[in-house]
Amino acid sequence: MVRFIPLILIVVFAVAAGVFLATTRNKADAGPFSGERAYSHVASLVGLGPRHPGSDSIADAREYITGQLKQAGWSSSLQAFEDETPRGRKEFVNIRARFPPADGGEIDWKRGGGVLLLCSHYDTKLIEGINFDGANDGGSSSGVLLELAGVLRATPDLARRVEMVFFDGEEAFVDFTEVDGLYGSRHYARFWRAAPAGEKPAAAYVLDLVGDARLRIDPPSDSPRDLLLDLYGAAEAAGERRIFGLHPTPITDDHVPLNAAGIPALDVIDAGYISRGNWHTAADNLGSVSPQSLEKIGRVMLELLTRRFGE
Ligand SMILES: [Zn+2]
Repeated sequence: MVRFIPLILIVVFAVAAGVFLATTRNKADAGPFSGERAYSHVASLVGLGPRHPGSDSIADAREYITGQLKQAGWSSSLQAFEDETPRGRKEFVNIRARFPPADGGEIDWKRGGGVLLLCSHYDTKLIEGINFDGANDGGSSSGVLLELAGVLRATPDLARRVEMVFFDGEEAFVDFTEVDGLYGSRHYARFWRAAPAGEKPAAAYVLDLVGDARLRIDPPSDSPRDLLLDLYGAAEAAGERRIFGLHPTPITDDHVPLNAAGIPALDVIDAGYISRGNWHTAADNLGSVSPQSLEKIGRVMLELLTRRFGE
């Protein structure tokens, strides 16, 4: 009899483990977000060539992004402007996208009350001597947003609570200063700065560098606490909490101008990627982007939206 006890325990454990695995697997399968589809968007963008502000290839990238958004039922509005850079005056174009109202009416792009911003930059850094793909840096986050746009089509009420923004000119021409880098987000934030508090978007999540195989998301130390807790909660629910931490310092990225304009913004960034060796090198290519990592972020962001706005 004594010998049976371990056997019974083994059976009990085996059944419990089986149930656990089945639950985990179902949960993973349940997510409609496809890392492979997100990856194919990244591949399409990279295939167009380096996306420097003002270049033909960034115009092609813009056409691709707005075309994909349109296919997913979203409307785009282009925000074009010029700014002085260390390389002279340049043209930049931000892409805003929203899901049209149910009554077929016009989108009011000047109203942001209650809207959650999901942001990415789609430009690539101009680096002398190399053909910089920006597959992870600029590509990965844009691919995740495009796949999210397609997935959210199935839940239009939820989609209408979101504005997607693809920033141009995130990268500095030389180095990040008050006037070099973050061109698109600085311009976009100026658009909202003077709006009354209730008319500004409620919050923003800025995705950046979300495609590395060794993905670890460490938002800046000065992140808005409620947004950070919402992100951790969604990560926990999606079974991905272990890849989320906190960077020990603030970070310069597109969330900074948004925060300064009174829109609480959090940078969903693999900050460790910056010191792991591939950042701003030719090694930031398609081969280094992992569909599994894109899927992890996509599922967490989808969970976050569902928890915030309901299904
Ligand atoms: Zn960069």
